[in-house]
Amino acid sequence: MRVCDSNFPFDSAQLTTYHRAPMSETVIPSQIEPDKWADRAAIVEAELPLKQFVRLLDGAHSDVGTVAVNLRFSRDARRFARMQGTLTTQVSLTCQRCLEPVDIAVAAEVDVYLLAREQDCDRLDEEEDFVVYGEGRCLVHDIIEDELILALPLVPRHDVCAPHIMAALAEQPEADVVVEKRENPFDVLADLKKQLH
Ligand SMILES: [Zn+2]
Repeated sequence: MRVCDSNFPFDSAQLTTYHRAPMSETVIPSQIEPDKWADRAAIVEAELPLKQFVRLLDGAHSDVGTVAVNLRFSRDARRFARMQGTLTTQVSLTCQRCLEPVDIAVAAEVDVYLLAREQDCDRLDEEEDFVVYGEGRCLVHDIIEDELILALPLVPRHDVCAPHIMAALAEQPEADVVVEKRENPFDVLADLKKQLH
């Protein structure tokens, strides 16, 4: 279960925007009223800047890019607000095999109920995902970010790492041995003897 932070100050300007908004959205307010969005079957098709997703970018090499958001809101038979859709983006992470940057395509399927009251979750089936929000407003941006983070691979890595980097990593232990030999005083002595003969 996740709970939306509802402590964000109320912005009356947003409410005005909401009342004028068409059914299809290309921007997402910082907070939405899920019941109203569900009642008007709102559809969101937006490209959000990747740099807005600070938690998703933890450890990433770049914040350049966008998150493609396709969401639709609806009421189900139980009158619960439901948000479904897809989120796609690309994040530059560190390959855990060669330690070089790797572009990871992230795609998340979203199907979540937005519940005004925690006790409503008793009426959901066990496999149904939900978020409880407070004060009549929900931070959709945070839900989007959570879903993207959950869709990240546990171990990011290239399908095939760059051959020259793998070769350099493989040679590393041998290089250490060579350095040790050179520093061995007996070898230095042997070399001197050879030069004298
Ligand atoms: Zn790699």
